[in-house]
Amino acid sequence: MKSFRKELWFETPARRAFLNITPQVELALSESGIIEGLALVNAMHITASVFVNDDERGLHSDFEKWLEGLAPEKPHSRYAHNVAEDNGDAHLKRQIMGRETVVAVTGGRLDLGPWEQIFYGEFDGRRRKRVLVKIIGE
Ligand code: ZN
Repeated sequence: MKSFRKELWFETPARRAFLNITPQVELALSESGIIEGLALVNAMHITASVFVNDDERGLHSDFEKWLEGLAPEKPHSRYAHNVAEDNGDAHLKRQIMGRETVVAVTGGRLDLGPWEQIFYGEFDGRRRKRVLVKIIGE
C-alpha cells in the first residue's frame, strides 16, 4: 500500500470564508500516483472546517446566515471561551461544519457525486492555516 501526505496552506483576508479546494486535492491525488484508495482531507486548526457540498453562491450565503444565527460572532462577551481570545463563535461553527471529509479514489480520480466539491471553511481567518491531505491506497 502506498501512502501520500501533503499540507495545503491558506490565509483568508476576511474572518470567515469558504474556499473550493477540490483542484488542490485533485493535484495532490495526481502527485500521489495512487489509483485506488481513500483520500482524507482535514483542517489542522480548531476554528476551520473541511466539508463537501455544492459550489453555489446562494448556498454559501445561507451557510453564513445559518451559522451566524446559531453562533453569532458578537458580542464577544457571549462566550465563556473569550477570555484571552475572541473566537468562541469560530470554534462552534467549526464543530457543526466538521473537521474532515473522506473521499473515495477510483481510477485515479476523486469519486465525488455530480455536484460534490470539497471546501475549506474558515471561521477565524487573516492568518496562515493548514489543511492535511492524506491519501492511502495503491
Ligand atoms: Zn479559541
